[in-house]
Amino acid sequence: MYDIDKIRADFPILSREVNGQPLTYLDNGASAQKPQVMIDAVTRAYSEEYSNVHRGLHFLSNLATEKYEGVRSIIARFLNAPTEDEIVLNSGTTEGINMVAYGWAAPRVGEGDEIVLTIAEHHANIVPWHFLRERQGVKLVWVEPDEDGSIPADKVLAAVTERTKLIAVTHCSNVLGTVVDVKAIKAGVGDVPVLVDGSQGAVHMPVDVTDLDVDFYAITGHKLYGPSGSGAIYCKRARMDEMRPFMGGGDMIREVTRDEVSYNDPPMKFEAGTPGIVQTIGLGVALDYMMGVGMENIAAHEAKLAAYAAERFAGLNWLNVQGHAPGKAAIFSLTVEGGAHAHDLSTILDKKGIAIRAGHHCAQPLMDHLGAPATARASFGMYNTTDEVDRLVEGLELCHRLFG
Ligand code: PLP
Repeated sequence: MYDIDKIRADFPILSREVNGQPLTYLDNGASAQKPQVMIDAVTRAYSEEYSNVHRGLHFLSNLATEKYEGVRSIIARFLNAPTEDEIVLNSGTTEGINMVAYGWAAPRVGEGDEIVLTIAEHHANIVPWHFLRERQGVKLVWVEPDEDGSIPADKVLAAVTERTKLIAVTHCSNVLGTVVDVKAIKAGVGDVPVLVDGSQGAVHMPVDVTDLDVDFYAITGHKLYGPSGSGAIYCKRARMDEMRPFMGGGDMIREVTRDEVSYNDPPMKFEAGTPGIVQTIGLGVALDYMMGVGMENIAAHEAKLAAYAAERFAGLNWLNVQGHAPGKAAIFSLTVEGGAHAHDLSTILDKKGIAIRAGHHCAQPLMDHLGAPATARASFGMYNTTDEVDRLVEGLELCHRLFG
């Protein structure tokens, strides 16, 4: 049984009020709230266990190193990676994708080579590829969603040519909630590497990178109920061996002389400088918390919420939901034709203690495609309830009465 009351009680912020109303937190797509167990772990890491990691010979450095390094295996378990050595720890998806762009792609792409993307990518999975377009003449090949927001694997595969060097695709759109069948994409392209932006996907469903067989899978800690500034990217061992280091500095070297440098073994080769020690420790605890609840259970709970929300929204004939792909995640981008602007919706809902996000959601090519400069996005997490959907609908109805 999914004990929603217990789960909600684990997140202290959910019991606070905002503007004199109980908080209804529906901005999980931007960042999720934190369970007490994670907050406690961060406090403990700073108050009892803190020192810099690696290289230290004293008690606290060894303890911090053990805690920090222990997270690699938690992430490997969370993603079902074949080995923990294929997990690069970092500050989040943005860093992970930039690492692949600079370290793996840049040395092997030239004028006219192609990178296949979907229009539904977050800027984090667009701008690093634009760098390669600007600097190395790479062509970006865009795949558009179907009318209902679906992004079929066949459509992505149809965009692949002999010049395709990489497919960079989201697992789950942060605007449409569409889930992309990245396993079918990888199965269809064979040797062409597939990078998956798992920022949203890993939050809402179990992920098994071994089964998906993708080459890179990036996650970001703050959406996974962990600290901001934490994250990781899974890289297939063969790709790691092909990848040059993205950032240089301490920890990633074996030896440095005046004339030469040699590198540490992967994954350390890709982890320069003092990392987000405590953030990473917190991420490990957050992922353990999610796995304790069970990713299948979280996915099932959110699927019920998504179905309920879709049904309630369908009853509001003045409200447009962007994206109706079958099996979509509980992420709803809303617009009101000729009525309230997304920012007005967000401001009025805030007065009711309801937190949603309004804007372009760092997905301007998609917004352009949708012909909507901004949407109001309600994005659900493991602790949300159908009562909160009802509160949102009440708030939207109030907006409609005020703005038409
Ligand atoms: N990709 C997607 C789909 C996202 O939703 C986000 C965050 O909003 C990102 C990438 C960027 O993640 P981060 O800022 O943690 O690197």
